Amino acid sequence: MKNYITGFPRIGEQRELKRALEGFWAGKIDEASLQAVAKELRIKHIKYQDERGIDLISVNDFSFYDLMLDNIITFGAIPSRFQNLNGLEQYFALARGSKDSVAMEMTKWFNTNYHYIVPEITKDTKFSLNLDKILSEYKEAKSITSRKLKINLIGPITFLALSKTTDKTCPFSKFDELVSKYCELLKEISKLDDEVIVQIDEPIFVTDLDEKLVKFIKPTYNKFSEISNLKIIFMTYFENAIKAVNELVDTKVWAIGLDFTNDKNFKALDVLAKSDKVLFAGIINGRNVWRANLDDKLKIIKKIKENLSDDRIFIGTSCSLLHVPFTLKYEDKLNSEIKSWLSFAVEKLDEVRIISKLASNLELNQNDQKIYNESLEAAKNRKISKLINDDEVNLRVKSLTKFRRDGDFKDRISLQDKRLNLKSLPTTTIGSFPQTAELRQIRRAYKNEVVDENFYENEIKKYIDECIKFQEEIDLDVLVHGEPERNDMVEYFGEQLSGYAFTQNGWVQSYGSRCVKPPLLFGDVKRPNPMTVKWITYAQSKTNKPVKGMLTGPVTIMNWSFVRDDKDKSEIVKELALAIADEINDLQNAGIKIIQVDEAAFKEGYPLRKEDVCAYEKFAVDAFRLAVSPARKDTQIHTHMCYSEFNDIIKTIEAMDADVISIETARSGNELLKVFKEVGYKQEIGPGVYDIHSPRVPSVEELVEQIENILKVLPKEKLWINPDCGLKTRKWEEVKPSLKNMVEAVKIIRSY
Ligand code: GLN
Ligand code: ZN
Repeated sequence: MKNYITGFPRIGEQRELKRALEGFWAGKIDEASLQAVAKELRIKHIKYQDERGIDLISVNDFSFYDLMLDNIITFGAIPSRFQNLNGLEQYFALARGSKDSVAMEMTKWFNTNYHYIVPEITKDTKFSLNLDKILSEYKEAKSITSRKLKINLIGPITFLALSKTTDKTCPFSKFDELVSKYCELLKEISKLDDEVIVQIDEPIFVTDLDEKLVKFIKPTYNKFSEISNLKIIFMTYFENAIKAVNELVDTKVWAIGLDFTNDKNFKALDVLAKSDKVLFAGIINGRNVWRANLDDKLKIIKKIKENLSDDRIFIGTSCSLLHVPFTLKYEDKLNSEIKSWLSFAVEKLDEVRIISKLASNLELNQNDQKIYNESLEAAKNRKISKLINDDEVNLRVKSLTKFRRDGDFKDRISLQDKRLNLKSLPTTTIGSFPQTAELRQIRRAYKNEVVDENFYENEIKKYIDECIKFQEEIDLDVLVHGEPERNDMVEYFGEQLSGYAFTQNGWVQSYGSRCVKPPLLFGDVKRPNPMTVKWITYAQSKTNKPVKGMLTGPVTIMNWSFVRDDKDKSEIVKELALAIADEINDLQNAGIKIIQVDEAAFKEGYPLRKEDVCAYEKFAVDAFRLAVSPARKDTQIHTHMCYSEFNDIIKTIEAMDADVISIETARSGNELLKVFKEVGYKQEIGPGVYDIHSPRVPSVEELVEQIENILKVLPKEKLWINPDCGLKTRKWEEVKPSLKNMVEAVKIIRSY
C-alpha cells in the first residue's frame, strides 16, 4: 500500500514565510529575497516528506497567501479594479487591497479557522491561463526528489461554488468556460512527465450543496480523465462525500479521496468495492494535534481492506496538514508526558509511513518499531494519566442538577431594570479598549519575569483607571475595564484553567501571514482560582456606574482550542461551562451587576451537514445556559457574537436566553436586523452602530441617522447602543472621538 499526504503547511516551522512576507510588505526586503525564502521552504517541506517515506509528494501546496487566490491567478479571474497591476504587486493587492482598490473578501474555509480569498465572478469575467507557478514548482520538486509527485489543484466546482458575484451573475454561468480552461491546464500538465498525478480538491461535496452540484461531476471529470497521461484524484475532506462517490464510480476518474476520521464515509466502501476506483483513505487526522493510536488506525484500514484490494488503497492524512502546527521539535518547555501524546505535521508523516507499512505487512525497521511502540505506550498511558483525570471534575459533571438560571426573561428584566436604573437606549462597548504597544510590552515583561507582580498590577490598574475615567467623561452608561490583562480572549482563560497546556511554537496559519497558536485542552478542566474578579472589581471600585464583567463562553473557548480526542465533546464543554459558572458566581457575589459572556465562535462551530445542526445547537445552547446558570435573576447576562447573519439561527440565539445580545452589524446594513422583529425576539439587542474596521471617525449626524434607521426595525425598549466589536485593534485617537460621537448621538435621539 502506498501513502500520501493531502498537503503540507507552508508558513515555515519558524514562521519564516510570515517574516519574509511582512518584511516585503514593509519594503524591508526585495522580491528576490522573498522568492528565495519561498524556494527554501518548498525544498525543505519536500525533503521532510521525502526523508520520512511519503510515496506521493505534494506539489503546488505552497502559496504566498492562499491557494484559492493562487487559483484566481492561474485562471486569470482578476477583478477589473486590479487589472492595471501585475506580478506580485497585483497578487498582494488582491489579498490586501491597494491604495485605490479594496481587497477581495476573505472568509472561513469550511468549518476550519483558515480563511481563503473569495473569488469574484461578474458578467465580464474572462478566464485566461497562467501556468507559471504550477509548472515551475513541478520542475523544482522533480529536481530534488526522485519520488512520484502529485499536483494539488482546487477543482472547478468548488471554486465556483465558493465564489461570489457583485453584479448578480450566477458564477456557474461561467462553468463551461472555466472547465475548458481547466482542460487546457491539465493538457499542459500532462506533458510534464510520462504520467502525471493531479489531486483535484472538491471539498464542496462534503456540504449540503452536493445535491445541487453532483450533476456537474460526470461530464467534468470524464472530460478531465480523458486527457492522456493523467491520473486524477477527486479529493474531499472534513465530512462525508457519499453523494459524490455515487456519481464518481461511474466516471473515468482514477481515484477518490475520503476522510476516514468521519464514520459516515465507511458507507462509501460498498459502492467503491463494486467499482474500479482507487481509494485515497484519509486515516491520520489532519486537523487535530493528538498522536494517533496506530493500532486503532490499523483496524480502520482492515475494514477498508475487506472491501478493496491492497493495490487500490493509498493511506494518508484526512486533510491537508495546513491545519496543524509544524513540528514538536521546538517544544522544550511542554510537559514531557503531554508532549508524548502529541503529533504535529512532521510527526504525522511518521504515522502515515508506519501504518501504511504495517497495513502492507511490511516489516518495520528499528526506528519505526520504536515510534510504533511509543504510539501504543502513549495511548495506554494517556488513559490512566493523573494529569488528565480529575475525579472531582467528573463527579461534579455527573451530579449536576441545575442546568439553567432561575426565572424567565420577563421576570428577570424587570428586576434588573429596577436595580440598574438605566436610561433608554443604554450605551456600552463590547469589552476591549486599544491594546497599545506599551501594554503588550508590560504583559511580555511580566510573563518573562522581567518585572514583578506588583509592578505589573500597578500598570494594569493605571490602564483601567484611564479607561474608566474616559468612559465617565463621555458619559457612557455601562462601563468596561478594557481587557488590558488579556492577550487573547481564549488564551487568557486557558492559562488559568487546569487541563490546558500551551506550546511555544504551535503556530497554525489563519490567513496570509497571520497565525494563531491555539491552546491545548488535554485534560479534565477546572478553575482553581477566580480569573477576572480582581480586575473587574477594581474597575467597579472606581465608578458609580455599572461595570460589565467580561468572560469568554464555553463554546468559543472550545472552538478555538485544540481539544482532546479521548472524551466526548459534550462532556468537555460542560467542564468549561462550570469553570465559567464559578466565575459568574464570584463576580456577582463581589457586587458586579452585569456580566457579558462572549460567544464569538458560536456560529463557527456549526457543522457542515444539516443533519448534524440540531445536535450542535443543543450542545452549544446547553453549554451556554449551564455557564450562566448561577446568575441571579437581577444579574444581567449579556452575550456577544461577531457574526451578523442570524436568519437561520435566530431561534437558537433566543434559546440561549441571554438578557442582552450585542452583535456585529455595521458592515451588513440594517436589513439583517429585521429577523429579530419578524420572529418576535424577546430579549434585548445591541447592534453595532459603526464599523470599527476602518480608522474613520463617524460623525454625530451619521450616527443619529444610523440609530434612527435601526429604530425603524427594532423597538426602543429593546435596543442598546454600542459599536461593533474589536476596539482593541484600534488606536485611542480613533476610539475616543468615535465613542464620544456615539453617546452624543444617543442624547440627541433621547431628547426628541
Ligand atoms: N470582549 C471581546 C473584545 O471586545 C470580544 C471579542 C470578539 O468579539 N471577538 O475584544
Ligand atoms: Zn465580536
